Amino acid sequence: MAPSAELKTQSETRKGIRALLLGPPGAGKGTQAPRLAKEFCVCHLATGDMLRAIVASGSNLGRKVQETIDSGKLVSDDLVVELIEKNLDSPSCKNGFLLDGFPRTLPQAQKLDKLLDHRGEKLDTVLEFNVDDSLLVTGEPLIRRSDDTAETLRSRLVTYHEQTRPLTVFYRRRGLLTTLDASQSPDVVFAAIVAAFAKVKTTK
Ligand code: AMP
Repeated sequence: MAPSAELKTQSETRKGIRALLLGPPGAGKGTQAPRLAKEFCVCHLATGDMLRAIVASGSNLGRKVQETIDSGKLVSDDLVVELIEKNLDSPSCKNGFLLDGFPRTLPQAQKLDKLLDHRGEKLDTVLEFNVDDSLLVTGEPLIRRSDDTAETLRSRLVTYHEQTRPLTVFYRRRGLLTTLDASQSPDVVFAAIVAAFAKVKTTK
């Protein structure tokens, strides 16, 4: 096959995926997601980014959201589901999506199921970014945002273990979960994700 034809076939095989990225704060979801979105021609929907945009608008809702974010707790399920629902309609999601930081609770996961059902869509895969807490708390400083204080980070980790990690059981039961060692270098993690996506696409 001519090199250009081979490249085309490869990129066509890669185009499109419907995936969730699950993992604790600082595990690298936000690093991988934009690169993956480009590679697979899908949209990257991060509820944390959407919420920070609401905070930046300076509205009353924004002030409340800021307080919740700074406490390391979660905003309401209804708010984030509404944000995801609105954004899934954007043209950049026509080939699929990467959901980053959503769902974070069981009710959110159930609402996502309903939402996708209505759209006649199904999740292809759920990737769990697995990193030991000790690496997240004592690793490189994560101070980039107002919720990146050591105290908030610890609270976000507690929230993750209590409310979000149980989703791995929910998705494992449905045969959708792949767990990655996210403590490896970003390039190694990226390659592992591309391989995981290729696997689900060829078995579909
Ligand atoms: P992130 O950038 O994904 O780490 O999100 C930053 C903060 O936004 C979190 O610590 C939560 O307070 C809030 N947040 C983001 N996504 C969600 C979600 N799906 N459900 C509830 N709160 C969320």
